[in-house]
Amino acid sequence: MEEKKNIIILGAGPAGLTLALQLLRRKQPDWNVIIVEQKSYAGGIAASFQEEGLYFDFGSHRLHPSTSPEIMRDLQELLGDDLLNRPRNGRIRLLNRFVKFPLNPVDLLLHLPLSFVLGFSGDLLLKPFHRKNQPQRSFADALMQGLGKTICTTFYFPYARKLWGLPPQEISLIQAQRRVAANSFSKIIKKVLSLLPGIKKENAGRFFYPRQGFGQICAVLAREVERLGGQFYYSTTAEDICFKQGKPDYIRLKQYKGQAVEFIDCKSDFIFSTIPVTILARLLNPALPQQILNAGQKLKYRSMILHYLVLETGQFTPFDAHYLPDDHLIISRLSETKNYYASTQPQGLTGLCSEIPCNFGDELWNMSDAAITEKVLQELKQIDLPVQCHVRKAFTKRLAFVYPIYDQNFADHLESLDKYILQISGLISLGRQGLFAHDNTHHTMEMAYRACECLDSALQWNAELWKKRREEFAGHVVED
Ligand SMILES: Cc1cc2nc3c(=O)[nH]c(=O)nc-3n(C[C@H](O)[C@H](O)[C@H](O)COP(=O)(O)OP(=O)(O)OC[C@H]3O[C@@H](n4cnc5c(N)ncnc54)[C@H](O)[C@@H]3O)c2cc1C
Repeated sequence: MEEKKNIIILGAGPAGLTLALQLLRRKQPDWNVIIVEQKSYAGGIAASFQEEGLYFDFGSHRLHPSTSPEIMRDLQELLGDDLLNRPRNGRIRLLNRFVKFPLNPVDLLLHLPLSFVLGFSGDLLLKPFHRKNQPQRSFADALMQGLGKTICTTFYFPYARKLWGLPPQEISLIQAQRRVAANSFSKIIKKVLSLLPGIKKENAGRFFYPRQGFGQICAVLAREVERLGGQFYYSTTAEDICFKQGKPDYIRLKQYKGQAVEFIDCKSDFIFSTIPVTILARLLNPALPQQILNAGQKLKYRSMILHYLVLETGQFTPFDAHYLPDDHLIISRLSETKNYYASTQPQGLTGLCSEIPCNFGDELWNMSDAAITEKVLQELKQIDLPVQCHVRKAFTKRLAFVYPIYDQNFADHLESLDKYILQISGLISLGRQGLFAHDNTHHTMEMAYRACECLDSALQWNAELWKKRREEFAGHVVED
């Protein structure tokens, strides 16, 4: 009997899991689908965990209503009644005041300082008199021309500095196109008006969220993959991806078993990678040409500290998330997950998650948990949200690869690396980290659905179709 073909998927985040599931659904008797994940659990950045009976995410996560009907149907089938349809109830702090987020015209007029309303209105009225077709070279240029000074200086610019750690002039123009859904007056006004009763589309201002945390999405995907025969290697990293005569040969895996380490050589017939493309580049054997490796090394990801508080109170505030663009604060967003899944359980306890963007190895990254807790409590007081109850627990989790950084040169470096990897037979890089894209979960799931369609039963890859799909993915716009 002919030996089965091994399809290896690196990474068990939403992209890797969805791809495994789609491949297994094809019921190819001669395929083994093998998923290699460095952590001891599935879900990647979109996982959840439990502490003191509370569900926590790695920062605020929602399933957006823009998820395609195909993905939505599958998730509804897998999650059933556990997939809640919830109203958004967030706030953003602008000029030391909180206003509803997503923005609401009435609330904006009632709660923002008159100086902001006048500034924004002035920018809007003067827009037709500005010189048209001015060159746009950066994130700063695009947003300044699209939205004017007031909203840029109070919101987008400080937020950008905090999220990506760069001055807005040093951020690529592409970031404004991909990451800012409302990057012009007309789009922002349309977005704000779309929330008004009468005009409001079904599910505008709402989101989907599973009862047991956002990570329940990946948990059910992983369970289904296992049920259909997918094999998982957890606590395992890919160390060496070996090619012979231009085709995948085997991957050397390093599996951690407590203190012990085991090396496994796993035959590979086709490899999908959802791990950071910069890491993938270093694992390939034979090695990539030095100039391609150098280009890869110039691509940077922003890191994040997630700081968690377990508080001895049933609810901290009724809001799901607080967005904090002010770059004098280390917290970029504060979320209370219990409000996402609308539970009163466990009684008398709630949890907060503060997102703190930073660079791997910088001063913040190396700060002790105690020092970060002190800073978080101080900042909450500063923004009029003092913690007035007993803190049962405070701890952090740190993610090294969070936001791809689109500096002014990233596109050239990415293109060199991407072009080279694309022409390697039997290897496809995809997902948020694999394509260096800022994408939401539903976008990375979409990539997985489309990738599965490009592979035929004899493991021949349809490069033309994938090229077309990649062009479509470039149109993804991230939602918060
Ligand atoms: C703070 C924050 C908030 C977000 N909010 C939302 C939201 O509201 N809605 C939304 O839809 N999306 C949101 N996202 C985006 C969402 O988390 C990602 O789009 C999604 O997790 C990407 O899935 P992925 O599988 O492509 O990558 P990942 O989730 O990063 O998965 C990659 C996997 O590869 C593994 N891996 C890495 N290196 C190796 C290696 N060498 N060997 C083996 N395994 C390896 C990792 O451990 C990980 O499990 C948010 C992201 C962040 C950071």
